[in-house]
Amino acid sequence: MPAAFIGHGSPMNALEVNRFTEAWRALARALPRPRAILVVSAHWYLNGTAVTAMPRPRVIHDFYGFPRELFEFDYPAPGSPELAEEIVEVAKPAFVGLDRDSWGLDHGTWSVLAHMFPEADVPVVQLSIHGGRDVAYHLDLGRRLAPLRDREVFILCSGNVVHNLGRVDRALSDRAFQWAERFDAAVRELMTMEPANIGLAAGHPDFAMSVPTPDHFLPLVYLCGLCAEAGQPATTVLEGGTLGSITMTSYALGIAGPIEANANSANAAPLPDAQVVPPEDTNA
Ligand code: ZN
Repeated sequence: MPAAFIGHGSPMNALEVNRFTEAWRALARALPRPRAILVVSAHWYLNGTAVTAMPRPRVIHDFYGFPRELFEFDYPAPGSPELAEEIVEVAKPAFVGLDRDSWGLDHGTWSVLAHMFPEADVPVVQLSIHGGRDVAYHLDLGRRLAPLRDREVFILCSGNVVHNLGRVDRALSDRAFQWAERFDAAVRELMTMEPANIGLAAGHPDFAMSVPTPDHFLPLVYLCGLCAEAGQPATTVLEGGTLGSITMTSYALGIAGPIEANANSANAAPLPDAQVVPPEDTNA
């Protein structure tokens, strides 16, 4: 079973049809039907690694300032307590706690799965991101999840390579600042050459601006672990930025060739390194 990292961007992508969501749908068409889906979501970031283990996970609307339509959005996929138990086993000696009543499916999960699996008929579990651990921990845990690929589990890592909400510019719908483009390109080189070296990204001059907090970047590290275990680099599913300071660039493991033809054709030229006024938090 292939695995993927998707740059999820704004929760509004759940309702919209755009070149990103079209690429997510194209990716789904390239997959065999999974037994279940494991999502490593940027939006379940806490002081521990846990997996949702309830049979009917609730849908969490973990944002504010969006239209009512989005708050009413439902993604009624079942959970899979069985898969949660399997994850606890394969992760050892890393400890993964079973969450039976706390979390559910957040928008890092359902904004993407609404396009990839619109019927919501494949069981979904989420894995939290341990904010107290370093890249080596996440890389290793990603490697340990690899056996699930042989058990028909689709592993979806959901975040954004560049994610700086303080620099978002709503006038830039489908473009990114030059610093964001530079960092995104450097990560793309690592992903398509030697994903196990993803830790080197922290030494890039644009890292601090592109990754001001680790939550949206760390899901990518799980795909790097899966790539390392498979001995294969990732392939690019789509490239590009949005709102100036977010990149939607997405990767897959186990899928040959580009999913989205001419991914950059709709992109305008990158913008100069403008300073923009920080708008309200979009929780993208
Ligand atoms: Zn997000």
